[in-house]
Amino acid sequence: MKINGDRFLVDLEALREFGKQGTGVIRPAFSPADIDSRRWLAEKFEDCGLTPRWDPAANLFGIPPQPGKPILIGSHSDTQPQGGWLDGAYGVVLALEVARTCQEVGGPPVAVVSFQDEESAFMPLTGSCFFSGKLSRDALYDLTNAAGQRYGDLASALSELEEAETLTPSLFSAFLEAHIEQGPVLDQAGEIIGVVETIVGSRQFEVTIKGQQNHAGTTPMALRRDAVTGFGAFITNLEERFTKIATPRSVWTIGRVDVHPNAPSIVPGELNCSVQIRDGSLAQLDAMCEMIQKAAAQTAVERNLDISLLETKAVAPIDMDDGIVEQFCEAAKSTVPGAWRRMPSGALHDAMNLAPQLPTGMIFVPSIGGISHAFEEDTQREHLVAGVQVMADTVAR
Ligand SMILES: [Zn+2]
Repeated sequence: MKINGDRFLVDLEALREFGKQGTGVIRPAFSPADIDSRRWLAEKFEDCGLTPRWDPAANLFGIPPQPGKPILIGSHSDTQPQGGWLDGAYGVVLALEVARTCQEVGGPPVAVVSFQDEESAFMPLTGSCFFSGKLSRDALYDLTNAAGQRYGDLASALSELEEAETLTPSLFSAFLEAHIEQGPVLDQAGEIIGVVETIVGSRQFEVTIKGQQNHAGTTPMALRRDAVTGFGAFITNLEERFTKIATPRSVWTIGRVDVHPNAPSIVPGELNCSVQIRDGSLAQLDAMCEMIQKAAAQTAVERNLDISLLETKAVAPIDMDDGIVEQFCEAAKSTVPGAWRRMPSGALHDAMNLAPQLPTGMIFVPSIGGISHAFEEDTQREHLVAGVQVMADTVAR
């Protein structure tokens, strides 16, 4: 089933115009650019025989006329406050092209979706949380964004949502998503397609290191209980332990550090920091958690400090459907032989919310320089088109 690459690129550039800012796009959920782009997409659906259906979250679906359960393909077309032009928009226009081709050549029925607010103006993956049933309509409508706007008020202002009915995953047979990688792996390897096996999970800890606040001039070094030098020892210990057990997919980040009282002439008495780990394997996440505990316990004894850990976040890794992964691999083999790989997704995607409900799969195309959520975000045009072809071939299987 051959897709029309030129037509796809024209539509992708057309969507880019909504909220265009230099080479990037500013199109957060419910901004005028977001609403206009959804109305444009609804027209594109009608042009190719799909019926536009808005749900109460302002997720926009294009439903094919054929009876039975269509395959649902899509992503999100909202952006970060300063976003790249591809991000989820790529996956939405790709879905449009695949669904359109299926209508033209008598392929299997494909429905399209653009989820609302994947980019966390209200909460992470808002629209797909609602669609998958994780979030009730009341809870959804009570969410507010940074400007204090209520989701329900913004949704109610749209005439399209007056009669909006909820659509459920049970209406569809599978969910497929394409996205730019948003990382450097494919680009550095000179590869074109990544078949996602797992969306990685994460754990986050709040670490509190308590020593004794004291005078910086009168307290001898040997008698100090310094939270900051203790932090240095803790991090060194942790790095050594992590490095020993890390897989190529393990990442860890100490992204926030607060020192108290944070003054030049005071031996710091307390330090709080975050430790976040991510990996595609639950067992590996558990092993890394154990390392955090051991590093904390050892440092506390060696430095005469109190170190406490509080787990503040735990997201389990989500596996993609094995059968769909195999189909994507077969399609990649024939479209881009030798230039594809299986890989994890280090970022969250709407597919995470769908995977517990529907057989779900995802593919990536490269991000030039690994850059995303930035105006420079880009992908070679032939790589974008190759992704559409791989998706179409997978659907046709
Ligand atoms: Zn995205």
